[in-house]
Amino acid sequence: MAPKKHSGFMMFVTEWRNRNAEGRRMTIPQAVAHCGGIWEKMTTQQRGPYNSGAKNADVLDRAKRERLNCHGQGIAQVDQAQQETAEGVMHMKRTTERIIREAKKAHDLENAKFVFAAFNFFTKALTSDVYVPAEFAACEYSLKEGIRSIYSTMIDPGQIIFGQSSDAQHHSATTHSLPLPPNALGERNMAKLHRNIVDYLKKCQGDKPLIVFTPVDDIPMVKSCFRYLACEDEDDTEIGRQKIEVFDILYLMFILKKEVMDVADLHDENVTQYVTDSFFNREFFEFTPQIACQYHEENDRSKYCTQSMVTRWAYTFSDLMCGDLAITVQPGKHIPPKTNPNYRVIHSDASSLAQESSFDSFYSLPGSRVKKENQSQDSTNFSISSSRASIASSSYVPTDHTAFTADLNEAEAFPSLGRRNPSGRRPPANNAPTQRERNGAWDLPTNSRPIKKFTDSDFSITGAVKKNKK
Ligand SMILES: [Zn+2]
Repeated sequence: MAPKKHSGFMMFVTEWRNRNAEGRRMTIPQAVAHCGGIWEKMTTQQRGPYNSGAKNADVLDRAKRERLNCHGQGIAQVDQAQQETAEGVMHMKRTTERIIREAKKAHDLENAKFVFAAFNFFTKALTSDVYVPAEFAACEYSLKEGIRSIYSTMIDPGQIIFGQSSDAQHHSATTHSLPLPPNALGERNMAKLHRNIVDYLKKCQGDKPLIVFTPVDDIPMVKSCFRYLACEDEDDTEIGRQKIEVFDILYLMFILKKEVMDVADLHDENVTQYVTDSFFNREFFEFTPQIACQYHEENDRSKYCTQSMVTRWAYTFSDLMCGDLAITVQPGKHIPPKTNPNYRVIHSDASSLAQESSFDSFYSLPGSRVKKENQSQDSTNFSISSSRASIASSSYVPTDHTAFTADLNEAEAFPSLGRRNPSGRRPPANNAPTQRERNGAWDLPTNSRPIKKFTDSDFSITGAVKKNKK
């Protein structure tokens, strides 16, 4: 049953009754009648705190109900909150492991699909876990196909938490740079937006529980933003109550990498979550152009664009794992749209397979591990010998992406690589040069991405949406 909504007006009535002795003597219907007249004459500004308070209460109510739902009983004691967190983490880990184990058992690890999701927010309530969303993006990903589709939208929540506009202003100016309500861009109808997102997730995940992955630190924020959208959508029973679980993308990457190495018969005891986390956090693709939404591309804030974030996470997954499974990487789906200089795959000899592990981005290969490709300058795509191009569901050929090669001596094309690892030895993962040095290394040309794109205004699976920007 849909729960009762809080209204700004009722909040005003309650406060008025508490403040006036006369009000306390009235019954609620009398007070409502009396306050109705006052409320009528109040300006939008004056009503602001009550309306914003009502919204926060709705979001918090939803959080409370979610807790009730997953435990089947009310939680009164404070120490149970901790237990609940621990249980939440266990549930997240077990579910992630189960998904990957099942895919592995079905010899289908490379086709397992995951949805990565990110929110930007305008502001967070001071005393509670309420975030006001500003932008959302999700991307559907598999190792085999890379990015299968992207959904991206800006959000106009209509109001931000009362009294926090300077906080919101500051947050926006230092991060995503999105204009604040009432000038916010994007979808205004939260219920519609929620339905669109649920629709999209259902398209990606079918009848399975809806799960999205995001970096662990953002999980509370992403959960809260989903609640913000959902609490306006309560009356519509099915979708309004649809729960979206938010899991840790770092843990997913770690477990997936372990299993990928296992099926590829690569053994490396150094695969710890510390190593995969640091790989993720190195942000190899931070400066990739042309992957943000148009607003962020034009305002030069693509780093903070949610569409760019989910895209970069997908690239990072491909970068870490496609080589192990000898999956042909396609520009725009597994890696940035177009690369310069161009890479080629050559056969690796057996000896190089012996000791190399696969923890360097192939974008950061030190010189010693790269075999030079002499003759050809015309290879414009990543290609791979046909015998390895497709690993079907049977046996995996052990391989290693150290075989990717490029002419790293082209100093102007690759300014940062020259000074990174002159000794030619592979650096330990935690001693790698900072990826800030990559700035400028990827001056990539515009290109059209053959990826299905969803935006909120045209929510349908269509062909590629091209950017017309130069
Ligand atoms: Zn954006």
